[in-house]
Amino acid sequence: MLVDNGRSDMVGGELQEMLRCIRCAACMNHCPVYGSIGGHSYGWVYPGPMGSVLTPQMIGIEKAALLPNASTFCGKCESVCPVHIPLPKLMRHWRKNEFERHLTPKAARWGIKTWAFFAKRPTLYRLLSQTSNRMLRLLGGKKGRIHKLPVVSGWTDHREMPAPSSKTFMQQWNEKQKAGH
Ligand code: SF4
Repeated sequence: MLVDNGRSDMVGGELQEMLRCIRCAACMNHCPVYGSIGGHSYGWVYPGPMGSVLTPQMIGIEKAALLPNASTFCGKCESVCPVHIPLPKLMRHWRKNEFERHLTPKAARWGIKTWAFFAKRPTLYRLLSQTSNRMLRLLGGKKGRIHKLPVVSGWTDHREMPAPSSKTFMQQWNEKQKAGH
C-alpha cells in the first residue's frame, strides 16, 4: 500500500512541477511574507511559498484558499528555488481555481472592490493611505509595534506588526525619483 498524500494526483497536471520540490526551504527563507508572519500562520505542515502550493493540494482549496492569496508575487521564491519551480505561477493556478469555483469569500470580494474604487481615484487614495498610515503609527505607540489590529485582527494573531514608516510608499517613491535613484 502506498500513502502518497495526493501527490499522484499532481502527475500530468498543472501542478506537476511542484513534485520536483526537495524541501530545501530556500523559498520560505527568502519570502518577505514568510519573514513577516512566521511559519505558524500557514496553519499546516508546509509553510512558505511551497506550502501555499502544496497545502491546497492536500487539504483542498476550500480550506486553504488564503495561502496562495497571501503572496505579493514578488518572484523571489522562484528565483532562489534550486530546482526552478515556478511557484508564483502555481499559486496563480490556485487563485484561478478558487475564482472559477466561486469560492472567494464575500468579504474578500468586497475588500477588492473597495480597494479598486479608491485605486481609480488617486487623490482619494493618497488621502486614505496617509490617514491610515497615521492611525497605524498611533497604534504602534513609542515602540512602533502593533499588538492587536481592529477589524483585521488575524494579521496580529501570531506576530506583532511593525508600525509603518512616517512616509507613505508614494512619498518615498517620489523622493527617490527626485534624488535620481
Ligand atoms: S526552494 Fe524550491 S525546492 Fe526548495 S523548498 Fe522551496 S519549492 Fe521546494
